[in-house]
Amino acid sequence: QKREWAKLVHEATTTKDGHHVELAANIGTPKDIEGVKNNGGEAVGLYRTEFLYMGRDQLPTEEEQFQAYKSVAEAMDGKPVVIRTLDIGGDKELPYLDLPKEMNPFLGFRAIRLCLEQDDMFRTQLRALLRASAFGNIKIMFPMIATLSEFRQAKQILEQERKGLLDNGTEVSDSIEIGIMVEIPSTAVMAEQFAKEVDFFSIGTNDLIQYTMAADRMNEQVSYLYQPYNPAILRLIKMVIDASHKEGKWTGMCGEMAGDSVAIPLLLGLGLDEFSMSATSILPARSQLAGITKEAAEKVAQEALHLNTAEEVKSLVEKSFIK
Ligand code: PEP
Ligand code: MG
Repeated sequence: QKREWAKLVHEATTTKDGHHVELAANIGTPKDIEGVKNNGGEAVGLYRTEFLYMGRDQLPTEEEQFQAYKSVAEAMDGKPVVIRTLDIGGDKELPYLDLPKEMNPFLGFRAIRLCLEQDDMFRTQLRALLRASAFGNIKIMFPMIATLSEFRQAKQILEQERKGLLDNGTEVSDSIEIGIMVEIPSTAVMAEQFAKEVDFFSIGTNDLIQYTMAADRMNEQVSYLYQPYNPAILRLIKMVIDASHKEGKWTGMCGEMAGDSVAIPLLLGLGLDEFSMSATSILPARSQLAGITKEAAEKVAQEALHLNTAEEVKSLVEKSFIK
């Protein structure tokens, strides 16, 4: 099977009936790009920049960040690189920021909430990203967006920094797409409104599932509620994809669900445009997609939306595509 997969490294991702989807990789550092290339990644769908900030005792400088983002953009050679702005808090702490302990860190002061408040830190990162955009195909993505107003504020800060750089004669790409992670249920529900203002969505199912089911993604005792195939989750995903397409935008997914072999036919059927996963899942996913038609996936996805439980959805997919 490994040898079969290896043949697909330089192939496009195409379903049996000729539809193309993009298979992208999640990365944490520029060093991960080698693995993306060896596994035939068509893009970077999620660069988790928080690793630049972790395991040290002060914030990374603008120059340090610029070098990291530029090296990823250049290494991907014009292919898309979606870079997520700092998503700290929740399970990821930064001791040097000295933030107060919280009762519910996953529901607390994290990610974009923290960046909008401590905006010096945010502006430094945005300048590094904007400067790096001149060296490849960078797209900027904001994490943990819960309201349109947060998105508008973040975008306004970005535009101010862009103007500052241009006024200084610094080169910045004029075609950077600006998107958001959809990982909070309010944002999935409001996807139609968001779709008019963002350039793309990337569904973060790791958090979207935990917030929709009210089940901590790290807590073993409630892990039975962590159900990617629950029709409630599928319906939210459908709302997001449909809303984006209505406005001529695209939707990706960068949570673990995007690389899951039971989820893949459902996501194809719901119309997902980009699947971003760990690099080692890309070739198995490409091989799986080559064996199914989008038409059949659409039928199964439609049926799944009307089932009652995650178990029923899983057996439907297995019966239709896996066994
Ligand atoms: C997600 O929430 O699905 C996601 C990709 O982000 P993270 O796992 O970094 O929270
Ligand atoms: Mg997340």
